[in-house]
Amino acid sequence: MSVSQRARNIVPSATLTISATARRMRAEGIDVIGFGSGEPDFDTPDHIKEAAIQAIREGFTKYTASGGIDELKDAVVAKLKRDNGLEYTRDQVLISCGGKHSLYNVFQALLEPGDDVIIPAPYWVSFPEQVKLCDGKPVFAQTSEREGFRLHRALVEPLVTPRTKILVVNSPSNPTGAALTRVELQGLAELAVQRGFWLLSDETYDSLVYDGHQHVSVASFGDAVYARTILVNSLSKAYAMTGWRIGYTAGPREIIKAMDSIQSQETSNPTSIAQRAAVVALTGAQDSTHRMREEFDRRRRSIVKRLNEMPGISCLSPQGAFYVFPNVSGTYGKSHAGKTLTNSTDFAAYLLDEARIAVVPGVEFGSDAHVRISYATSMANIEKGMDRMAAAVGQLH
Ligand code: PLP
Repeated sequence: MSVSQRARNIVPSATLTISATARRMRAEGIDVIGFGSGEPDFDTPDHIKEAAIQAIREGFTKYTASGGIDELKDAVVAKLKRDNGLEYTRDQVLISCGGKHSLYNVFQALLEPGDDVIIPAPYWVSFPEQVKLCDGKPVFAQTSEREGFRLHRALVEPLVTPRTKILVVNSPSNPTGAALTRVELQGLAELAVQRGFWLLSDETYDSLVYDGHQHVSVASFGDAVYARTILVNSLSKAYAMTGWRIGYTAGPREIIKAMDSIQSQETSNPTSIAQRAAVVALTGAQDSTHRMREEFDRRRRSIVKRLNEMPGISCLSPQGAFYVFPNVSGTYGKSHAGKTLTNSTDFAAYLLDEARIAVVPGVEFGSDAHVRISYATSMANIEKGMDRMAAAVGQLH
């Protein structure tokens, strides 16, 4: 027996693998500090949990419509109007089992074998793998650190061919934290309209922006680009609801309908109880999200400062999400105890062995000069972890 070519083509999620390794080491009694996980360390706010408990008590525990309950679709419509200035109707919204599932359904609904999907690099690990699972071909638009990892029209335009079906826009970005400006997004919007491809706008981190950055949805630049944009968002990060698995898509009716059909055969509805909780998350008070954002901001400033003090490491200050993506290539060629670092995998392994801290090698995101460090962990862990990292880096010669 052998598994399919499709399955052989896929690499498992590196970020989940690193988190699992850190968890396993901790279970063995090793004091590992995890900077690998893309998951807020905060608990889901109480009023959201209460809504789920109430749903259980009321017996709201059966199948729902495959694409989600109307009440939640309406809450998404209201959120997109309130925060993003976008007008959608209920039939333009689909609720799925996390943003990851939403994205997968978009690729399932749109891609023909061999279609190109342009993905900005460094990229979130799941974009290329999902495209491959749906028989598409990932094409990378390489952003540069010199330009703050920013995606803009001049980087994308040379890659566009008649095979280009989708451009992924992920602002704020996982892993770089780069958040695009209105001008940059407008350039991408114009290109999509002129050349006739879809924009898949992953706005999972839209509520986590810093230094006065204003998040703008690319669909907001007029009717032509609105008709070409599929917006995906998730409750995972904004409401510390990673385990609840609720994400959503908003876009043209025809695509939403196709995605709903696919979902109806794939998973049926997202969990009924989690949907009820999501309604309260989106429509209730938003102060817990604001508080989390402030705390992430404090950690961001601290971690960027600490990293830039380490020899051989430089780190840009990201405008969004909860990751930093420091360049660690200045340590390559250096050694400790007979081990010489040559790439991001060596660097991450060295930190795990020497400093007991878990980071994700940048090669997994398409850049071997970097590592990804998530600051979705407590300030105490950040301080302790940065002390350990500074000591480990300091002993490289
Ligand atoms: N999009 C990006 C860029 C992400 O980083 C993530 C999670 O890490 C997701 C989507 C999906 O998150 P979820 O499936 O938990 O909603």
